[in-house]
Amino acid sequence: MQEDSDNEPMNVDHTPVNMVVVDGIVMGLTHCAYGDCTSALGNAQGGVFCPVHEAEHGTKCHIKGCTNPKKVGTLACTNPGHQEQWSKNAFVILLWNLAK
Ligand SMILES: [Zn+2]
Ligand SMILES: [Zn+2]
Repeated sequence: MQEDSDNEPMNVDHTPVNMVVVDGIVMGLTHCAYGDCTSALGNAQGGVFCPVHEAEHGTKCHIKGCTNPKKVGTLACTNPGHQEQWSKNAFVILLWNLAK
């Protein structure tokens, strides 16, 4: 009778850590999502930008090309179309920002 006969080689080269996306929420984001910026996130806003970019862009609608101020509690301006786009594409926009 043989025991411990299954000796599979352990493959531990890959450690998939980076980030996990769950229902549009990006976990593990620790730095500013703006372009190449690697500054730490500002805590107060709970946003995706460092304090500098939060001040510069965080108050504006996140829909590309729109410069209206965003509606409090959302990342899009009061334009109904943008609100809709934001709620639908929130994670896409975030990832787009990350990928830039
Ligand atoms: Zn930044
Ligand atoms: Zn807008």
